[in-house]
Amino acid sequence: MMDYQSILNDIHAHVISEKDKGTVASYIPELALIDINNFGLHLRTKNGEEYGVGDCNKPFSIQSISKVLALALAASKKGSTILNRLGVEPSGHPFNQLALLEIENGIPRNPFINSGAIVVADIIVSLFNDPKVEFLNYVRNLTGDDNIHYNLNIAKSEKETGFRNYAAANLLKSFGNLENPVEEVLDYYFMQCALEMTCQQITKSFHLFANKGKCLFEKSQLSEQQAKRINAIMLTCGFYDEAGEFAFEVGLPGKSGVGGGIVALLPDHYVITTWSPGLNKKGNSKLGMLALEQFTTKTQLSIF
Ligand code: GLN
Repeated sequence: MMDYQSILNDIHAHVISEKDKGTVASYIPELALIDINNFGLHLRTKNGEEYGVGDCNKPFSIQSISKVLALALAASKKGSTILNRLGVEPSGHPFNQLALLEIENGIPRNPFINSGAIVVADIIVSLFNDPKVEFLNYVRNLTGDDNIHYNLNIAKSEKETGFRNYAAANLLKSFGNLENPVEEVLDYYFMQCALEMTCQQITKSFHLFANKGKCLFEKSQLSEQQAKRINAIMLTCGFYDEAGEFAFEVGLPGKSGVGGGIVALLPDHYVITTWSPGLNKKGNSKLGMLALEQFTTKTQLSIF
């Protein structure tokens, strides 16, 4: 039997002593207020054992981690038709890059760069009368926890400063790849990114990707094929222009957010979430990547 708790404790002790914790994101002004010294780590095995350390029960801004849950919601309603409007190739560029979108005629490379996530947001806006409420309920149901909320200050802060996302949405609109008005789609998208969750809640919500599409309550949310495919997109695109490095160091499908969270999973085995707000130059949590590299090295539990 693996002693997961002492493995997590060792990783925690090691990473919090690191001097260089990266830099907290400041392009969304409200995110810059977060204390860089937060560090949380939470693991849940497929059969329900849970282990946590540090700030694993403090809510934080999940940001781009929400893109995976939004894709799952859209795919569960629309199936593979969404691939008419999106690709599944890594972009090799930062999450907010615009040049490829122009060159490739408004078809985003994948659903996890911002332009792709804005197309998924557009699909969700078209599907529901109240997309913000529907998305929140979807995540609450996956987690079995009604104590999950949007942070309205963070949504407002990004709405006031999200110039590159406005540019991406306008480009998508000009190519005919946005059904709804730019303002309406971004209003939803910024709120989706401003969802706050703890490491523990994120771990639970991602159980469906480690469990062939079935959520914590064994309800089928995605087909096995859809779960497999979303894991593949996480592996190849979840860390933008650092996806190769994450596969190389950690070896798991996963997704980062500029709030400093990273969730990663080994299908049929476990989901693990880290939170450390300091980011590296590619916008991924610096200590989070280090912690996950140590986890798969110590446990030898990666997909490779
Ligand atoms: N809301 C952020 C943005 O659109 C999400 C980016 C991220 O977490 N990488 O810029």
